[in-house]
Amino acid sequence: MPDPFSPPESPSAGSLFAAEALLPTGWARDVLIEWDATGRLTTVASGRQPAHGTPRASGPVLPGMPNLHSHAFQRAFAGLTEFRGAAQDSFWSWRTLMYRFASRIAPEQVEAIATWLYVEMLEAGYTSVCEFHYLHHDADGRPYADDAELALALLRAARRAGIGLTLLPVLYQASGFGGTPPSDGQRRFIRATDSMLRLLDRLRAPCEAQGARPGLAPHSLRAVPPDGLREALAGLDAIDATAPIHIHIAEQIAEVDACLAWSGQRPVAWLLDHAPVDARWCLVHATHMDAGEYRRAAASGAVAGLCPTTEANLGDGLFDFDAWRAAGGRWGVGSDSHACVNAAEELLMLEYSQRLATRRRNVGADARHRDVATALTLAAVHGGAQASGRAVGGLGVGQQADFVVLDPMHVALQGLAAPQMLSAHVFASHRTSAIDTVWVGGRQRAVAGRHAARDAAAAAFVAARGQLLAKE
Ligand code: ZN
Repeated sequence: MPDPFSPPESPSAGSLFAAEALLPTGWARDVLIEWDATGRLTTVASGRQPAHGTPRASGPVLPGMPNLHSHAFQRAFAGLTEFRGAAQDSFWSWRTLMYRFASRIAPEQVEAIATWLYVEMLEAGYTSVCEFHYLHHDADGRPYADDAELALALLRAARRAGIGLTLLPVLYQASGFGGTPPSDGQRRFIRATDSMLRLLDRLRAPCEAQGARPGLAPHSLRAVPPDGLREALAGLDAIDATAPIHIHIAEQIAEVDACLAWSGQRPVAWLLDHAPVDARWCLVHATHMDAGEYRRAAASGAVAGLCPTTEANLGDGLFDFDAWRAAGGRWGVGSDSHACVNAAEELLMLEYSQRLATRRRNVGADARHRDVATALTLAAVHGGAQASGRAVGGLGVGQQADFVVLDPMHVALQGLAAPQMLSAHVFASHRTSAIDTVWVGGRQRAVAGRHAARDAAAAAFVAARGQLLAKE
């Protein structure tokens, strides 16, 4: 049987004619889309006639969704923590289970899990991913012979699946505010600042070779003391002064209380006062902010990294979407712990959680787009691209040819106009995919909703998860 992952096809220019396409300004008709051999869009023009021989999209064309927050290995225990352990389960009891799982995972298992996850993402409308990568060392906490071993496993997984990647090695140095020493469960995550800067340097060439963007993820204010944060940011600037920076911030009330006890400030307020937060930053789970923090964080230009299904799964609390958008805040979505891997479903969860909180409908519509699915999709692509530090901002010249074609023959979509098809895809397709083809950099990665390597990747994932569960 030929290896479904290889050989990778050589890059070539291409084109597609779409009867309807969702451009950054909204829906357009008769759109000619062309890209060059590097996979960059060179033409996106509406009102055109299709030239003879130009392939036609089978249905409406959407921008591919950047997934702005992923911990790939966590996919292997999605669904396995849904039972009552402690009298009161919480994010923190979930984290104990996650640490147990993380403590025994091997590099080839990380690669198998990530490859399958990225195949799933592509089939579910994500065309790129920001990997918040904190498993650095072996099970005893010692560096691998090649210190970049696990980062390289993720790069290989992304290349084999054909998904775009922003690789964010995580700086993790303490178990709590004030530099509390790390716990045993955190031994695989720990790096001194100079070790992190060497890793970032080491990853430059392999990232460049596949068009991946390296950045840095200070894990959280509880895991990175102020000196480490300052030195790491200065070191990152020396390597790449425009590289993306992602941080977990204010996900949990206990974290906010601990930050207040340590510094007298809430986490987002502390960060804004002590770090140069700007448009390079992605504030992941900025869930618990006061009114002033919402205003200041939005004004900084940073992207709010929302992970609606994970935040619901972990019982984090609700982000105030109205306050953020009223302040002009940018945002995108991530699948984080991968309890759910589906771009449309993150938008659904976001919209529904806000409806429940505000007792209103159609919260996600905005001044330019009354249609909720259209408004949410465009905003999430825009913010996701900014957080990724890659040209993945939708169907515009100079952006990557990352897009999704909906299946107009899906029962939920048949006979509808294009904006209604997107609505049905987000709100009415019953968790089944209404996606036909998925393209990354002008290359087709899923056809009829399926990735060519689906079966091989799934089998390797199931085997890896079986090995890990056998060690329980
Ligand atoms: Zn996370």
